[in-house]
Amino acid sequence: MKFSATGILYVVATPIGNLQDFTPRANTILSSVHLIAAEDTRHSRHLLDYFGITTPLQSLHEHNEREISPLLIQRLHTGESIALISDAGTPLISDPGFWLVQTAHSENIPVVPIPGPSAFVSALSVAGLPTDRFIFEGFLPAKTTARLQRLHSLAQETRTLVFYETPHRLLDCLADLIAAFGQERIGVLAKELTKVFETVQRDTLSNLVLWLTTQPERQKGEFVLVIQGAPPLDKQAITAEDKRVFYLLNQELPLKQAAKLASAITGVSKNLLYDLGLKK
Ligand code: SAM
Repeated sequence: MKFSATGILYVVATPIGNLQDFTPRANTILSSVHLIAAEDTRHSRHLLDYFGITTPLQSLHEHNEREISPLLIQRLHTGESIALISDAGTPLISDPGFWLVQTAHSENIPVVPIPGPSAFVSALSVAGLPTDRFIFEGFLPAKTTARLQRLHSLAQETRTLVFYETPHRLLDCLADLIAAFGQERIGVLAKELTKVFETVQRDTLSNLVLWLTTQPERQKGEFVLVIQGAPPLDKQAITAEDKRVFYLLNQELPLKQAAKLASAITGVSKNLLYDLGLKK
């Protein structure tokens, strides 16, 4: 452990399924700190019992983190060290802990990462999509209108996109991805990573829907969605079918509206379609 007059806040990653991914360093730190702040103490108790770690636990979840963080900061000021863990993976990655880490920084308390698993990095590493640049979008909004709005704002994003999704929203989410990105965009469903039913399914968005619906038990489990980025604007090809959809709509609708709707159907940039309409 590092020497410090105040305690140290350790941010410790834990397994996302397979307990063998628990690192020796995580074990050492969790065994030696004064307190472990955990998202769900009952859940984490199983992990700690498995490794024989008896350090006291304090719950810190999204509903109490603003109240609990100042109390933990006080303890850090007295020289105690604290480890933050979440239910799975790396804390703060779509998980609580932001308030605690931010306050620790503002109070000059050292914050030390103990790296380990994170579902999105694991998914990216096997997706076979470009990883030199990517964006992590975490969970999409639960409500369809907000989700579609977010996805439309991302439709021309050229970097690989990564989302977390719950199993009961997976099909709705894929339907909205198709509406915003077009059905031919490549996606990867990284399911139950590191667990018994681990599956990495890579296909067009419409085939992924087929894959999930032909055997509905495939919809169960934890998923990361990795989606191919849009081609750069100057490389986007407009197919004959894209043009047909756009011209049909433009017969009935003003150019701006036709371009927007055709873009949602085909996945082609609305600016490209708009330009096409101007050249007609
Ligand atoms: N902090 C975690 C991390 O570092 O990945 C993420 C926590 S977030 C609340 C939970 C989401 O992560 C799940 O809904 C799922 O999208 C993803 N996830 C977690 N474990 C997973 C696994 N074993 N396989 C696939 N996705 C997983």
